[in-house]
Amino acid sequence: MDWKKFIVDFISKIVFGVSKDVEDSNYKKIMIELVEERNGTNKILLNDTYFVFDYSSWSLARGHGKTFKEMLNHVDKKTFHFLAELSQINEIMSVEITSLWRPTGGIHTLGRGLDIGKIVTKHGTVSYLRCSQEQSDSILNKKIRKKIWATGLISQWIAPWKIRGVLGERGGWRKNTKKKSIDRQHRNHLHITVKG
Ligand SMILES: [Zn+2]
Repeated sequence: MDWKKFIVDFISKIVFGVSKDVEDSNYKKIMIELVEERNGTNKILLNDTYFVFDYSSWSLARGHGKTFKEMLNHVDKKTFHFLAELSQINEIMSVEITSLWRPTGGIHTLGRGLDIGKIVTKHGTVSYLRCSQEQSDSILNKKIRKKIWATGLISQWIAPWKIRGVLGERGGWRKNTKKKSIDRQHRNHLHITVKG
């Protein structure tokens, strides 16, 4: 028994509610074990929050011969820590993930990028997929994105209405003007980058 680690873990459990070291690697293992598959849709239920992955969400990984769980194994443990934090946000009931790890390069290949199609909350649904008619950020989306940003675990939020953290840009939230290519690429989904 490593007493120093035991005491540090014990104190951080009291102070922070969880031990950060233990938590990061454990959430990955726990969430992969919780995968349930039905009719091609994979779901993970954690803390009363469903994470839903439809069949097309991992098609590129499947094209590379991966199973769903093998795809999840490529995802960084910090991304699972972030998902676990989402599951702790009381209003959030389910999150539809449209892409997680993919083999084609970029932050998704590093396992720290996730694309979200919709978030179902106790007060309504924010759909990032079917939003072309809506010009402005809804009150619900504003509330949700601010809570998610406040986890402190993400460095980018690139969505149809609001954007934050694009490389080379300074400042806080800005509008998606659909003028830059990064804005247009994210007119129909929310991309989140988890901090490394
Ligand atoms: Zn993405």
